[in-house]
Amino acid sequence: MYFQKEIETMNRKEMSALQLERLKWTVDYCYKNVPFYTKKLDEAGVTADKIKSLSDIKYIPVTTKADLRDNYPFGLFAQPMKNIVRIHASSGTTGKPTVVGYTKNDLELWSDCMARIVTAGGATSEDIVQISFGYGMFTGALGLHYGLEKIGATVVPNSSGNTEKALMFMRDFKTTALVATPSYALYMAETARELEYPMSDYNLRIGLLGSEGCTPEMRNEIEKAWGIFVTDNYGMSELIGPGVSGECQERCGLHFNEDYFFPEIVDSETLEPLDEGEAGELLVTTLCKEGIPLLRYRTRDITRLNYDVCKCGRTGVRMEKVLGRSDDMLKIRGVNVFPSQIESVLVANEKIGGQYQLVVRREGFTDTLEVKVELGDESILDKFSEIEKVQKNISRNLQTVLGIQCKVSIVEPKSLERFVGKAKRVLDLRNENK
Ligand code: ZN
Repeated sequence: MYFQKEIETMNRKEMSALQLERLKWTVDYCYKNVPFYTKKLDEAGVTADKIKSLSDIKYIPVTTKADLRDNYPFGLFAQPMKNIVRIHASSGTTGKPTVVGYTKNDLELWSDCMARIVTAGGATSEDIVQISFGYGMFTGALGLHYGLEKIGATVVPNSSGNTEKALMFMRDFKTTALVATPSYALYMAETARELEYPMSDYNLRIGLLGSEGCTPEMRNEIEKAWGIFVTDNYGMSELIGPGVSGECQERCGLHFNEDYFFPEIVDSETLEPLDEGEAGELLVTTLCKEGIPLLRYRTRDITRLNYDVCKCGRTGVRMEKVLGRSDDMLKIRGVNVFPSQIESVLVANEKIGGQYQLVVRREGFTDTLEVKVELGDESILDKFSEIEKVQKNISRNLQTVLGIQCKVSIVEPKSLERFVGKAKRVLDLRNENK
């Protein structure tokens, strides 16, 4: 049930003491080994001995993704290259990616984090786990890979792409667990249906899904399609990859690996700490990392923390599923819109499929939002009035949830682009007309 019980069920007082000791170590380590931090900490007048309690962390300046990009590729590394044994890079869509390096100890720590999370999600040494994340510079696949091997599971490093072959392995190997993005898990189910093997040929029982958002409705759809139990996990390559936090089988928040990562919630505009339970931007400080330690890294993810002990017995603080990203948030006619809100409306409608695209345009001085969705129920493909009904229903529900009007376009089944990795759902054309 636990991978490292003594850490996962440690009481708050002991955990805080451990975190404080490690925070002081990290500040000192950054100061001595990363010129970027020497300068920043000098400017802020912070040294390790000035940190007397965890709340003193607020005196430390934050680190941003731009800081990593500005120091591309290895400027924030705290160890010489001979001690770095692995390099990964983020899937940055614009400009230079962010590059991260791991020492041997970092890889060990990462495997521990992942082993705890997959165990919490229900995986055991009996499982045959197919990893359908793309291998390569992206941290997702290898992160899960080492964690699963550590607990003794059988890993099938299938990677992404060639879905039919992946499904063949899944049937022939009697694969019991799937690692994938939620949208790819759905796409695999869609392909499995098309191939017309009976679903009883598949032996899947759990899904360890992650690397992109997943609403409860989408999760239901995946669970129904595959007949599996799905848990979510959270992380990002800058911090380590997946492994920062993950759901246990109670699924009431993601347990943080707090002995390695210290979380804070701040107001994303003022960076002021918020009270326990309030929603704000998550900042994370690495507590043991050697390759590229980060102080108060701005994740841009909006969430809240819950320090109550979980029913599963784990004491690690739980973060709520990410509510949205402070920089993915779309501002449309002055209203904050998170793609996840739209997704929750779409997935609730049985007549449409799981894929969608959001197109934002500027017409004159007004922003418009078009939501493109695929018809899921092919039996009404030719029935204009039925389709119109679906469209009106979605329009109305979106208006209720978002507070703004948007155009809903229903397109033919399977006509929207499919993504193997993270789905690119938003097409913002507003700047192109300038
Ligand atoms: Zn729990």
